[in-house]
Amino acid sequence: MNVDILVIGGGISGLTAAVEAAETGYSVALIEKNPYLGGRVAQLTKYFPKMCPPYCGLEIFLKRLKNCDIKVITNAKVKRVEGVAGNFNVFIEKMPRFVNENCTACGECEKVCLIERPSEFDFGLGKTKAIYLPHDMAYPYIYAIDPNACNKCGECVKVCRYNAIDLEDQPEEMTINAKAIIVATGYNPYDANKLETLGFENPDVITNMMMERLASPNGPTKGKILRLSDGKEPKVVAFAQCAGSRDENHLPYCSAICCLATMKHALYIREQIPDSKVYIFYIDVRAYGRYEDFLKRVEEDENIVFVRGKVAKVESRDGKVVVHAEDTLTGKRTEMEADLVVLAVGMQPTTAVERIEGLEYDDYGFVIEKEGIIPCGVARMPADVAMSNRDATGAVVKAIQVVRG
Ligand SMILES: Cc1cc2nc3c(=O)[nH]c(=O)nc-3n(C[C@H](O)[C@H](O)[C@H](O)COP(=O)(O)OP(=O)(O)OC[C@H]3O[C@@H](n4cnc5c(N)ncnc54)[C@H](O)[C@@H]3O)c2cc1C
Repeated sequence: MNVDILVIGGGISGLTAAVEAAETGYSVALIEKNPYLGGRVAQLTKYFPKMCPPYCGLEIFLKRLKNCDIKVITNAKVKRVEGVAGNFNVFIEKMPRFVNENCTACGECEKVCLIERPSEFDFGLGKTKAIYLPHDMAYPYIYAIDPNACNKCGECVKVCRYNAIDLEDQPEEMTINAKAIIVATGYNPYDANKLETLGFENPDVITNMMMERLASPNGPTKGKILRLSDGKEPKVVAFAQCAGSRDENHLPYCSAICCLATMKHALYIREQIPDSKVYIFYIDVRAYGRYEDFLKRVEEDENIVFVRGKVAKVESRDGKVVVHAEDTLTGKRTEMEADLVVLAVGMQPTTAVERIEGLEYDDYGFVIEKEGIIPCGVARMPADVAMSNRDATGAVVKAIQVVRG
């Protein structure tokens, strides 16, 4: 297959780039490793600062995508890139989905499947069957099978009236020739298991992305924010900002969005649990540009308290979680008991862990631009959605310049 522009990653940045390049008349392939498009945005409950559901924005892109002639390949991972601007070969591993486009998502297969697996979409907070719909707004809206969980009992095949399941589906290797490449591979939340002193082994210590799934109506608790240890409503919630960020042992940079995400989470909690109190432990609050208004809105709630202090340790004591922090200016130490602690972990570029051969990277694993290969969104630098959109549009202009020679 030959295309003008190949986009790696179907998150908001990749979707923006693919749609805008196709609408301008260029042939486009969009390669996504998950069985669905949308990337991390699909996992969010609301967007700061407007507090609207991210699916509104995603849906607009998916509608535009359907009206374009884009070759969309999901469940496919780009492994290697070779060649020069104007003539790249992109090597892709297409993983088996075991379910084809005949699937109507009727759900009969799921009913007869006896195997459960932790849902990676919900960061292990919930479970799905081995045959599962990635999430209830997924695009494409068809089931997938987790080969690591499935025992090939064949019960799903027997009940499927649409001949949509093939348990013998195999991985495939594909090569696509492209004149320009846009890299939109995004991020993973930093692994909280590496933050040894911050108590992540305690079920009442969660990450900010887990909070997104807890608060989401399509999440594992149907949107109810609760403690995982006993299912109770948390009345005191503490947020540890810069958990691993701006720390040379973990992520030395600032992810730019964590303060805003925490303010948004504080609003989730305060709206849902009126007698709750939220404490935000911070080094300094970063609400750049017009996000200052959002900070002001959050500060108006007297039950959201900003405490200056870097959290050094989180420990368990008598069913509570105890936060130890130190004021980075005065050196004063604070200790506080909470029902739930949220670690505001940063965004680590996917390519820091899963390198694509043939690309160039900076010290942190973000992708560096080179002739004909243009990174955008969080693949290039930490960014919010609005910034990722703009960055993707800019990347398309650069890619078109390469295509036109
Ligand atoms: C807790 C939290 C809350 C947030 N809340 C907000 C908010 O309210 N408002 C806001 O503006 N921003 C928010 N953000 C930031 C937002 O998530 C990012 O700006 C956005 O997801 C960036 O989109 P992206 O497409 O660049 O990356 P991603 O969303 O990470 O998408 C990248 C895609 O690339 C795919 N991919 C990766 N490698 C490959 C490969 N080798 N081959 C094929 N595909 C690949 C991935 O599977 C993924 O689908 C939040 C971030 C966090 C951590």
